[in-house]
Amino acid sequence: MSSGGHTTVIKRVLERRVHEPEAREDTTATVAVMLRVLPPPQALLAIRAVDTRRHLEQRIQKEMLDVTLCEEHETIERLREQFRSVVITDSVSLVRRIRAQKLPRDPFILYVAPDETPEETEAGLIAGADDCLARHSAEPALKARLGTARRIAELEEVLRIALIENRELSTTDELTRVASRRFFGKHFPREIDRAARYRRPLSLILCDIDFFKNVNDTLGHAGGDEILKQFGARLQECLRRGVDWVARLGGEEFAIILPETNYDQALDAARRLRANVADHPFQLPGNSVEVTASFGMCNLHQVPFGDRKTADHMLRIADAALYRSKHAGRNRVTATLMPMNPVRREDNEIDRVLQQ
Ligand code: GH3
Ligand code: MG
Ligand code: MG
Repeated sequence: MSSGGHTTVIKRVLERRVHEPEAREDTTATVAVMLRVLPPPQALLAIRAVDTRRHLEQRIQKEMLDVTLCEEHETIERLREQFRSVVITDSVSLVRRIRAQKLPRDPFILYVAPDETPEETEAGLIAGADDCLARHSAEPALKARLGTARRIAELEEVLRIALIENRELSTTDELTRVASRRFFGKHFPREIDRAARYRRPLSLILCDIDFFKNVNDTLGHAGGDEILKQFGARLQECLRRGVDWVARLGGEEFAIILPETNYDQALDAARRLRANVADHPFQLPGNSVEVTASFGMCNLHQVPFGDRKTADHMLRIADAALYRSKHAGRNRVTATLMPMNPVRREDNEIDRVLQQ
């Protein structure tokens, strides 16, 4: 029976899977490479006792930690200016003060105790140090402690890099939940190819929130973020679900892609978008905020086939239209009909410009 045959094949595959654990991506090698190419972590050495400072200076190899000497009183200022992932100090009060600071990141603190008594070492740990070393520690202990500090600092750095790269690879913008810039870069040219293949029109709207710097200044960065979040949703409210899409190109600038949409329909959409932002204040806890945005639309009524530059051209023309909206006083729409053969035309030779 043929189905029996299939079943046997599937069974065999399943059995093999049990015996051979699924091949995993070899992340160990990747982490090893990242660790190898990273420069040694930067450290501040704030040691009061002169002989200890000299001793440590001589012992810490450059490949282990990139050490800068500093006075106790300037350590926090130095950390604020430029983050260092490790601080080595013999001052309990400095440990306490660093931990009390609201630094963007926490350094690894290695406390150098004057003696090896439990009271001395505990004092540093209670103050907030991550690890403790006695001033007269033997070479192996010193090496091990510095190695721990280095390892933690490096792993944290690798984790940060991996998270940032992961975010950049993402198709969705983390804050606004619309498409990411990366997604736009990949899929906007695909929309163009598709429109060319079926000889359909395509429209692109760029929009930029007006005076967003003021919004941040008044509401704080977190308030600004909340506005951005709501702004992405506002844009999506007015669009055809599953057809039109929004991408965040960066900061407070968004792109709206309208497939199979002619000039008049796209102009209509841009007007609706503008009104939907400007006519209803944004709601924040205990605050109602009026926001406006400027729009630049570019319509290509028939997309040329196989022209690799079309995406760039549409973007530049929409951007020029957006600039006109800004220049004319903001909170408005500028619509342009892109010439059929844009390659031979200058960007300022826009066939029809309509502003409102
Ligand atoms: P214009 O009307 O000319 O567009 O003025 P504007 O203030 O909006 O433009 P500008 O480019 O001077 O400022 C943009 C501001 O957007 C500055 C930046 O701090 C802020 N911004 C960019 N990205 C983010 C973000 O993710 N969150 C927050 N809260 N603010 C952001
Ligand atoms: Mg702006
Ligand atoms: Mg901007």
